[in-house]
Amino acid sequence: MTATQSPNPLPTGSDISLPWHLRLPKALEKDFRLYFRASVAKVAPGAFLLIGILLACAMLVESVVGDEIIAHSWRPRLFTLMITGGCLLLARNPRGREWLHPATLTLGLAIASTGNYLGYTISHPLSYTFFLHTPIAVIMICTLIRVPFYQALGGSLIMIGALGVTLFMDPSRVEFEPLTLMLVTLAFSSMSLFGQYVYERLLRQHFLSEHVLFQHRDELHSANLILENQATVDGMTGCINRRGMESRLNHLYHLLQKQSPDAPERVTLMLFDIDFFKQYNDTYGHPAGDECLKKVASVPLSMVQAEKDFVARYGGEEFVIVLTDSSFNDALVFAERMRNRVEQLGLPHSGSRISQVVTISVGVACSDGQADNGAELLKLADEALYQAKGAGRNRVALMSNQGLVEMLN
Ligand code: GH3
Ligand code: MG
Ligand code: MG
Repeated sequence: MTATQSPNPLPTGSDISLPWHLRLPKALEKDFRLYFRASVAKVAPGAFLLIGILLACAMLVESVVGDEIIAHSWRPRLFTLMITGGCLLLARNPRGREWLHPATLTLGLAIASTGNYLGYTISHPLSYTFFLHTPIAVIMICTLIRVPFYQALGGSLIMIGALGVTLFMDPSRVEFEPLTLMLVTLAFSSMSLFGQYVYERLLRQHFLSEHVLFQHRDELHSANLILENQATVDGMTGCINRRGMESRLNHLYHLLQKQSPDAPERVTLMLFDIDFFKQYNDTYGHPAGDECLKKVASVPLSMVQAEKDFVARYGGEEFVIVLTDSSFNDALVFAERMRNRVEQLGLPHSGSRISQVVTISVGVACSDGQADNGAELLKLADEALYQAKGAGRNRVALMSNQGLVEMLN
């Protein structure tokens, strides 16, 4: 296999075949309806406004053509204009958009039936043009303010059926006129419906592609989080490992120096090391040493609370605790309590030269002092730890802001 070949390529939306009837699985169908509506909602207010203007123009033309026409038409026209206004208000309201498709179908039916009514009741040489409202309404629901294909098909069939009944019932229509009007309507309607079918097919394909892509993006994101976690967590103690510690510490310092709104007030770092651990291993064996490490690590792990604070395994039996936002005094109280709790665990250590149980020595340093970055802060804490060891172990030493090491006890 070459480097560019993937054993399991990610599927794309076009891999998923769309049946001729367009239906997607039930769970996706619901999401698609929302997606479809959102795509129509953007253009709907402008389209309804256009229809309103066209209706007003139609009224103007009817008043110019003849008084008897406008006398018949103004009421149905006003009625349709009011429905258009209602649709426009719905389309502009985010909650009203839920009703966008039924509202568009209602407007289509209103336009087609007012056309039929006016064509049937008005006797004028040009009155056949009113029957052209039906193909116009079909074009409107298929291309201007699109409703889903099956709704458009149902709505169109009702409108064309109503037109057929009106035309063939009208005794005033001359020979071939109903037939010609029906043929024109069928031609326009079938082309519009076909266009709507093709459009919706493409839209569904696009929706599927996006859906598959989002799904894989989420899967990749979760896999990344797991990998990242595995890469920065120490498997034995559950603490963050050295790499994770360095990147978190550098990030905190970066925020501090940028004075970012997310920056902690200060960073206090504690470095502790188990006293006479070589002897522990020599006395009880390496596996027992591992168990001891886990128990000791559980103490700071149970004490650290804040979101940005953390415990890391810095090296073999050395651990780092980082506290953010605590005052330096609070951090010292924390360090002393932690030292005491480890001692209180009462883990027997007959090889220790200072106690009968396992103890730790702690060095503490704070970002308020002389460290300009995470590595320097760690170095200061290490210096304090070194002096804690020298001063007899099982104690806390702090690096003061002036760069002097002081023993806490
Ligand atoms: P000190 O009080 O000066 O710290 O004395 P120490 O004996 O603890 O000296 P040091 O800290 O240098 O000892 C580190 C020892 O820790 C060496 C090694 O055997 C042991 N160690 C390091 N990592 C592990 C581990 O993962 N498991 C076990 N069981 N022991 C470890
Ligand atoms: Mg050590
Ligand atoms: Mg040690």
